[in-house]
Amino acid sequence: MFENEYIPCTIDKQKNIALIAHDNKKRELIEWCKAHKDILSTHFLCGTGTTAKMIAAETGLPVKGFNSGPLGGDQQIGARIVDGKIDMMIFFSDPLTAQPHDPDVKALLRIAQVYDIPIANNKASADFMITSSLMNEEYTHYLLNFKKNIADRANTL
Ligand code: PGA
Repeated sequence: MFENEYIPCTIDKQKNIALIAHDNKKRELIEWCKAHKDILSTHFLCGTGTTAKMIAAETGLPVKGFNSGPLGGDQQIGARIVDGKIDMMIFFSDPLTAQPHDPDVKALLRIAQVYDIPIANNKASADFMITSSLMNEEYTHYLLNFKKNIADRANTL
């Protein structure tokens, strides 16, 4: 059970998508959601509090909201990625404005990378991602076997 370094993990056809936008990018993400409403409506959506509320209000799509980003919403989304409950992330971050929760933003991007979660950080990436044929298919990726990692560390440290 512990021997494999990597273990397969299958993302379902119907995906759990996290939506996040910094304040200066919220309008862009809302318009992007409107443009891709038909595809988005076939998946499960969630997001940081304000982003989720605004998208839901303007598109009519159901979007489960966590706390606002600066109040821990990014960390809640990161924890769900670790638990395998979020499959991909559309995160329109603002590269030109300092954020009070910059450590949380970095932590979220890092954990999404660790768990091999598809991330779109800007509109063009999001366009490519949402129009991928993989959006309509199961997708198996390989994640570090954390049980083996813990067993190895506990045995050697
Ligand atoms: P918000 O959080 O959706 O609550 O504004 C986004 C963020 O800044 O991380």
